[in-house]
Amino acid sequence: MERIVIIGGGFAGLRLCKKLDPSRYEICLVDRNNFNCFPPLFYQIASSGLTSANICFPFRREFKRHRNVSYHMGHVKNIDVAAREVTTSYETIKYDKLILAAGSTNNYFGMDSLAEETFGIKTVAEAAHTRDEILDRFERGALCQDKARRRELLTFLVVGGGPAGVEIAGALGEMKKYILKKEYPELEPDDITITLVEGTGSLLGAMRPQSQEYALKTLKKLMVNVRLNTVLKDYSDKYVNFADGQKEYYETLIWTAGVRGEPMPGLPQECVGHGNRVLVDEYNRVKGLDGSVFAVGDICLMQRPDHPKGDPQMAQPALQMANNLAKNLNRGEFRTPFRYRDKGSMATIGKAKAVADLPHFSFNGLFAWLVWMFIHLMSILGMRNKLSVLTNWTWNYLFYSTSLRLLLRPTRYPLRKHWGE
Ligand SMILES: Cc1cc2nc3c(=O)[nH]c(=O)nc-3n(C[C@H](O)[C@H](O)[C@H](O)COP(=O)(O)OP(=O)(O)OC[C@H]3O[C@@H](n4cnc5c(N)ncnc54)[C@H](O)[C@@H]3O)c2cc1C
Repeated sequence: MERIVIIGGGFAGLRLCKKLDPSRYEICLVDRNNFNCFPPLFYQIASSGLTSANICFPFRREFKRHRNVSYHMGHVKNIDVAAREVTTSYETIKYDKLILAAGSTNNYFGMDSLAEETFGIKTVAEAAHTRDEILDRFERGALCQDKARRRELLTFLVVGGGPAGVEIAGALGEMKKYILKKEYPELEPDDITITLVEGTGSLLGAMRPQSQEYALKTLKKLMVNVRLNTVLKDYSDKYVNFADGQKEYYETLIWTAGVRGEPMPGLPQECVGHGNRVLVDEYNRVKGLDGSVFAVGDICLMQRPDHPKGDPQMAQPALQMANNLAKNLNRGEFRTPFRYRDKGSMATIGKAKAVADLPHFSFNGLFAWLVWMFIHLMSILGMRNKLSVLTNWTWNYLFYSTSLRLLLRPTRYPLRKHWGE
């Protein structure tokens, strides 16, 4: 039986684990986390609407019925394509075929200090950390007697006007508008500044103008200052320098402005293209190698004449690539080239406020929000998770109240350096 090693158990990797023929392939899934998670709802973890356990699901539970799949915890340290082996933080694994499905990571566009000074929502751990920092600012703000310092403490800047930026800015706006007076009576809405900056002239750049305008209007109603055509140059000692020369103080900066392919050490440099994405042909085979290495999802760049920048780094292309690659591998013949079928995109801005662009029409408001909730609920793994998410959403909808605003400070324990990061 051939052994396929898959690096990354996100949308694409998990789909491959389930679709590859068990009578033909033994599958070894390597992931640094022992669970699959659902990134579209990370912003709800950061804003205390949900907890990590609601949107994550352990691989070992998921693979109970897939006996040909084994899970190996580890962070990939090296890929040796000549020896056909992958080295992780713990072991070296031989493969017959290797599939890279490790997704993407934050892109700071060369401003490396941002990695240390800003918060993000790119992983579930980052989102939980960001939640703690937001709650920390609210608690410290509530204690601060000096009004000017309190207002400084409660300055939040979200960088990036894509779906993730719009969603987290909207969630912060709801905290300011509705939750503050219920739970932080010491604070006034005016004490809090939430700013969203976007480098281009519109929010939600990949969506239609009517959705972009709706998002802008809704964020303004949620007391979020939106600044378009505004580019951040650097951030140090809590001061942001913008490209137009302005310098402003922001206590907390949440970065959602860009992604790049997750680095895969050892992979020959000529296999990697724009945005650190691995170059693949239309069958997802990594270009320039012997045909035993594939890449799917966010990490890959499949350039076609009509798509010179590749497919969008979203869940649907990742899932569709995984389906197509599984079909070709199960057949043992590369006959079906990948073609992305755009099913549309959605973003939510706040309670009962979302936008949806389907291939032929767009809609927004309450109905879009209900559709958004339904689709996301269906996509979360595990019945228990679906039910707890639904319960949390219903409770929040009715009462704007959650018991999840918990500030979990890291306790003192030996640093787990052997975790590899
Ligand atoms: C905050 C946020 C909101 C989003 N909202 C939407 C949305 O609304 N709609 C939409 O379509 N898309 C959305 N996306 C994008 C979507 O999540 C990605 O396009 C999708 O997850 C890509 O799937 P993937 O399988 O390529 O990678 P992922 O799903 O990112 O999976 C990668 C896996 O690889 C593992 N991994 C990474 N590096 C290593 C390593 N070195 N060693 C071992 N394991 C590794 C990770 O732990 C992870 O499990 C959002 C993304 C984020 C971050």
